[in-house]
Parts: sequence; C-alpha cells; structure tokens
Amino acid sequence: MEIPKSHPRYLSLITREKLVSGFKKGLVVPEGLIAHGRGECFDYILGEKSHDFALEAEKAAVALMLLADHPVISVNGNTAALVAEEISELSKILKAPLEVNLFHWSRERAEAIAKELEKFGAVVYCKGDAELEGIEHSRRIVDSRGILKADVVLVPLEDGDRCEILRRHGKKVIAIDINPLSRTSRMADVSIVDNIIRAIPNMIKFAKELKKENLEEVIRNYDNRKILMKAVLAIRDNLTKIAGELNVG
Ligand code: ATP
Repeated sequence: MEIPKSHPRYLSLITREKLVSGFKKGLVVPEGLIAHGRGECFDYILGEKSHDFALEAEKAAVALMLLADHPVISVNGNTAALVAEEISELSKILKAPLEVNLFHWSRERAEAIAKELEKFGAVVYCKGDAELEGIEHSRRIVDSRGILKADVVLVPLEDGDRCEILRRHGKKVIAIDINPLSRTSRMADVSIVDNIIRAIPNMIKFAKELKKENLEEVIRNYDNRKILMKAVLAIRDNLTKIAGELNVG
C-alpha cells in the first residue's frame, strides 16, 4: 500500500507495512502482529520518542556488550522484519553475532530469517544444535556457538520465561521491550524501554561514540530498577498531562 509521507501517522503505518511484508515472506507469525499491537499501544502512551531512561539503558547495554567475552544478539521474526539492516550493522560494530531464536520455531522459518539478515553481511547462527535446560518451548533451541556459550545476550521483543532462564544460566540479559510492566522488562539486567525501531539506531550511535576507558564507569553508574521506575512514572506523567489538557475549560 502507498502511504503518503504527509500522513500524521506515517512512521507507524510504514512500520506496520514492514511487519505485514515480513509476514508474507514467512518471517513473521500472526502472533507477532498481535505482539506488535501491544508494543504500539505502550509507545503511543509514552509519546513515541526515546526518553532519557531509554537512552541511558541503551548506553549501558552497549557498554556491557563491548565488555563481554561472548556477546550475542538474539533475533526473532518481528526484529528481522523491522530492523534487519540496522541490527546487522550493530552486530558488526559490537562484534556480537546474530542468532535466530524463535518461539514459533520451524527450520524453514529460521533459515528464511537468517537469509534476510545475511543480506546485510552479518554473521548469523541458526544451527539449533543445542538446548537450554529449563525451557519447555522452542526458545530452548539454541546454537552451540552462540547463546549457549554467551555471557551477555541482547534479547529484543522477548518473552519473560526465556529471559528468566537465560539469567538462571548465568548470562547477563539486555531486553528491548517498550512495555516496562512486562515480566521481560522486570527480569532483565538492562531493560531498554523503547521502540526497537529507535533503540537499535540509538545503540549504533552509542557504540560509535563510547570510549573504551569509560565503559566500566557507565556500568557502575547504571541502576536498572531506577530506569524501570522512571519509565512507569513517564506513563503516569504523560497520562496526567493529557488528562489536564482535556480538563481545561
Ligand atoms: P512477558 O512474558 O515479558 O510479560 P509477553 O510474553 O506477554 O511478555 P510477547 O507477547 O512475547 O510478551 O510480546 C513481546 C513484547 O514486545 C510485548 O511486551 C510488547 O510490548 C513488546 N513490543 C512489541 N513490539 C515492539 C517494538 N516494536 N519495540 C519494542 N517493544 C515491542
């Protein structure tokens, strides 16, 4: 569908089109479209911008990945449909391979997603030759070169269960979830409460700017509970502001 640039919801509509196109290519499952709807709602309430709490978490996430021995970026269908090029660039800058990891797993779908990412020159794992103990569903299927041995895992658009298991396996978890109330956000070591379409470009910028000697300090000063608290308060404040505007006159 042709969407005019002048449309007030242009970016939101283009983002939906990317997901629909990903669905038609077999990258995205119908459940992914529903999950996006929930994300859109939180983004709308938060004013569709990267708040300071998101930028601070994005910076800490980059520092953590740069200090890691085996950082890995987990990619699902929605992530591939929305930011394949950007996440491939981030992967190269951080020297963190991508790994296809799916809740609704099939070999065909995993390979289609890997192919989409490889177009942008990233290293992509999707062998699915190992399992994470403690998970019943398909997210347990991992790659022995990637998530299995990773010490830090970036998990965009994750489910809370796996986030918890990754932590139980001793890994540091960085989540990207625009919903600060989700179990994922509350389980992660670093919770990026931002839309993935803004979070990944912001992280690329931090990865280019951050100096090696400052990485430890960025981590030392980071407090994830405070970040989540600020995100929840931002929802409250935005709603209070809108209610106040409606109350005038
Ligand atoms: P949890 O178990 O963590 O409470 P869930 O399993 O119910 O979450 P899912 O259905 O897996 O959540 O959805 C993944 C999450 O991704 C949702 O909380 C949604 O807010 C978030 N999300 C969806 N689209 C985006 C996006 N574009 N950017 C950031 N977050 C998003």
